[in-house]
This record gives sequence, structure tokens and C-alpha cells, in this order.
Amino acid sequence: MKVLLLGGTHEARLLAPLIARSGHHITASLAGATTAPADYGVPTRVGGFGGVEGLRNWLERHQITCLIDATHPFARQMPFNAAAAATKAGIDRLRLLRPGWAQRPHWRNFDTLDEACQGLKPQDRVLVTTGREDLAPMQRRVATRFWVRSIDSPGDLPAHMTSIRARPPFSTESEEALMQTHRITHLLTKNSGGDPAKLDAADRAGVPVLMIRRPPQPTGPVVCDPNDVLDWLATLAPR
Ligand code: NAP
Repeated sequence: MKVLLLGGTHEARLLAPLIARSGHHITASLAGATTAPADYGVPTRVGGFGGVEGLRNWLERHQITCLIDATHPFARQMPFNAAAAATKAGIDRLRLLRPGWAQRPHWRNFDTLDEACQGLKPQDRVLVTTGREDLAPMQRRVATRFWVRSIDSPGDLPAHMTSIRARPPFSTESEEALMQTHRITHLLTKNSGGDPAKLDAADRAGVPVLMIRRPPQPTGPVVCDPNDVLDWLATLAPR
């Protein structure tokens, strides 16, 4: 089969070679959001498709027989574009979505960064691991200190915000040391799921967590594990 894998996650990178080794023809697709993305080990294209119609055209032009959406749980647009384009192109689609983290004590949940920031006090010192996009709610709170961790540079930041450039994975020990070094009072993060090192570190350090809830997902089949994608592919008749 000819598979399009929408990537941008650790799971997508694990999955790509598994699909290739299963004998399918695979193309991975990345948004181009990071400057030096990890190598998927399979043919890879980079950049948006141009909305639903652009993706549908691409699927038809390349005679794709099924689409695996392994984008990030917080990718708000692409899962819906993928669902609509796959329906229009008449092909099967599967969402690979890692499980979210289960609620722990000392967490408060919010739908937006703005809401999460509203309870912060001037003396608070916040470690932000929600990415380099949408920093406006933190930029507005000039009396609070923020440390923004991201893979790529967030660009120029105001004086009350400091950039920390780092690429995962991180250990619980290094996360705890980071929190202690900067005397962090809150961890502002989003419920991406995956490695819980920073949450374990926050528990150990007694740092409360401001957690952003996941955005909605399109309806349709979902699996959590890259190996389940292979089982799903095996159920599809070759076209
Ligand atoms: P998004 O809001 O869902 O997507 C915005 C646009 O980027 C899409 O409409 C599409 O452009 C393009 N795009 C997204 N994923 C693509 C892919 N795999 N291949 C080709 N084009 C893609 O997503 P986002 O939040 O901007 O994230 C961009 C990428 O970074 C995603 O692939 C996601 O998996 C990854 N990522 C996101 C987060 C996060 O927190 N949001 C975290 C880690 C990784 P067109 O409409 O032009 O096709």
C-alpha cells in the first residue's frame, strides 16, 4: 500500500521505519516547524499542503491508499484537515494519538494559556514547556518571571522572560535540578502525554502544575501504540 504518514512526533519517527519494513510504500510529511527535524529514515516531504483541498490533491496525485495521522496531540488544525481530505479522497485514515497523562494532585487544568496565567502572582517563577508559539499571555504578565523551554529559539523575549533551548528527552533528575536552579514556583505545561519526567520532578520538588487540556480531535479510529498501526494496516485490502 501507499501510505502517507503525517509526522511531527516521537511516535511518528518510531513508526515510519516499521511501516517501511512491513513492505509498504511510505512517505512521511513534516510541517517544517522545527529547523533541524529528526531523520525519519524514509522518503520525507516538508511543508503544508495548502489546506484540505491541497492535501486531497496531494493524496490523489500520489495515489495514496491510506493516511496515518501521527501529528501531535496539540496540533489543532492538521487532524481535521486529514480527516476531511481522506474522506474526500475516499481513503482510510487512522489517528495515532499517545495517551494523555492522568490527573495528579497539585494540578490545575485550563483550556487556554491565558486562563492558566490568570492566577499567577508577581513573585511567581514559572517554567513554561508549552512551546515557543503563543507566548502572548506570558508576555503580558511583566511582573512574573518565566523560563520558556523550547527546541528552537522563541525569538526576542522581554526582560521578564528567559529562553532555555533544549531538546528532549530529559531525566527526572535534570528536570528537578532545573526547577531548583531557577527556584521555580509553577510548571506551566500541556497534557501532551509521553515521558512524565517533568511531572515527576514537579512532584518531588513540590511545584504545582498548571496543565493545559488537550484540544478536540476529529471522530474516527484511534490507536495509541505504533505497533497497533501495523495491525490496522494489515486489515486493509490493498488497492
Ligand atoms: P496544526 O495547527 O495542526 O497545523 C497547522 C498547519 O501546518 C496545517 O494546517 C498544515 O498546513 C501544516 N501541517 C501540520 N502538520 C503537518 C504535517 N505533518 N505535514 C505537513 N503539513 C503539516 O499544527 P501545529 O500545532 O502548527 O504543529 C505543526 C507540526 O508540529 C505538527 O506536525 C505537529 O505534529 C508538530 N508538533 C506540534 C506541537 C504542538 O504543541 N502544537 C508539538 C510538537 C510537535 P496546510 O494546511 O498548509 O497543509
